[in-house]
Amino acid sequence: MRITFHGATRQVTGSAHLLEFGERRILLDCGLFDSERMNPDSPNRRFPFDPRSLDAVIVSHAHNDHVGRLPCLIKEGFSGPFLATPATVDITSVMLRDSARIQREEARLAQSRNPGGEHVEPLFDVGDVECVIDRMERLPYDQPREVIPGVTLTYHDAGHILGSAIVKLDYKEQGEDRRFVFTGDLGRRNTRLLPDPTPIKDIDILVSESTYGHRELDPYDRLMKQLHAIIARATRLESKVIVPAFSLGRTQRMVYCLQELFALHKARPIPVYVDSPLASRLTDIHRDHPEAYTPMARSLMDADPLYFGSKYVDFCASWEDSRRLNHLPGPMVIIASSGMCEAGRVKHHLRHVVSDPKNAIVIVSYQAEGTLGRQISEGVERIQIFDEWYDLNAAVYVLDGFSGHADRNDLAWWYEHTGGDIEHGFLVHGEPEAIDALAPVLQPFVRAQVHTPELGQSFEV
Ligand SMILES: [Zn+2]
Repeated sequence: MRITFHGATRQVTGSAHLLEFGERRILLDCGLFDSERMNPDSPNRRFPFDPRSLDAVIVSHAHNDHVGRLPCLIKEGFSGPFLATPATVDITSVMLRDSARIQREEARLAQSRNPGGEHVEPLFDVGDVECVIDRMERLPYDQPREVIPGVTLTYHDAGHILGSAIVKLDYKEQGEDRRFVFTGDLGRRNTRLLPDPTPIKDIDILVSESTYGHRELDPYDRLMKQLHAIIARATRLESKVIVPAFSLGRTQRMVYCLQELFALHKARPIPVYVDSPLASRLTDIHRDHPEAYTPMARSLMDADPLYFGSKYVDFCASWEDSRRLNHLPGPMVIIASSGMCEAGRVKHHLRHVVSDPKNAIVIVSYQAEGTLGRQISEGVERIQIFDEWYDLNAAVYVLDGFSGHADRNDLAWWYEHTGGDIEHGFLVHGEPEAIDALAPVLQPFVRAQVHTPELGQSFEV
């Protein structure tokens, strides 16, 4: 078998790994690179392989850096199936439609800024998205399915977001049984809402993510104590708590954590507003999959009339609902997108709260360099929002342990449970410092030197 890494190499976006079994070809994920979509030189705009030559595409989970270019494959002539777990199919259809809508808007803006310039085309439109959804095949966890002759796919729960899967491929080579495993993105352990990532044994070839390979994140209990203290402070000061959060995964996790805090930890409930229409649609999908959560999370949410949400949680649908929050008195929590404060409704809320020291901003996810979220998490004195400068007087708390990604200890635990004796190990989906820190953690379980592939690099394994 031959594997070529066409994305997420020494970086965290653009996941796409090509597997060749003789003449047959399978692509694992096809995600967006985090570069400007409207830029004609963006790596999002060309494939280094011929999509028409692919027999199947296997999707690990529905984050945009794993599914964001699936419609481009269709546009370039791919005619085979996309395989995904049932929840991933549901979420992907919402994510890709939203992406098509944003791109149409971005293209219109780019055109209006440069009216005489070259026509700017979105990467894909809603029609392309419909073609992807029509072609998606639902494969639940733990059910083997032959994807190409002689190669059997089984999905296992990765515990990262709803529907996220570890990809396991079993096949024979020269009469020998072989097992290939791609972790996709692995979740943290002991987070209560989603199960721990499933351990897999007897692996010959492993491709592992490494996002937080260099970090040890706070355990869940400590995070919940900190969150409890922040809510208690807001109650005491009658102030506002802003939580910038990605619409998929992090928003639902924070809603659940607050539910748990109010129900089990005896925190005095305060109103919680989820201000993102996309998050609201995605939360509906989360309600459709109660089987995905741990027994403890289910029993807690079963006791509530509304799964993900309770009488204390409101979802803001319209701009009017959103604007109304600016004039309501605290205490309250506002969970709003975007996760890195780069766009969306969270910027409007920040504008209204940042200057008052009684308010708080809680950072619960990774903040890329150069983003407003990063500046806030680093505690700068002044921040710029919509061309205006504001003093950052609100309290800032960084609780990035609420991340959906396994940290160094979680990854070490998962590697230990493979039983070791892996022939080839590859690290992808991490910044260089994360990958370099994780390689020695994986090495004891792998016979050959752990590989940290570069973009476009191929290996015979
Ligand atoms: Zn992910």
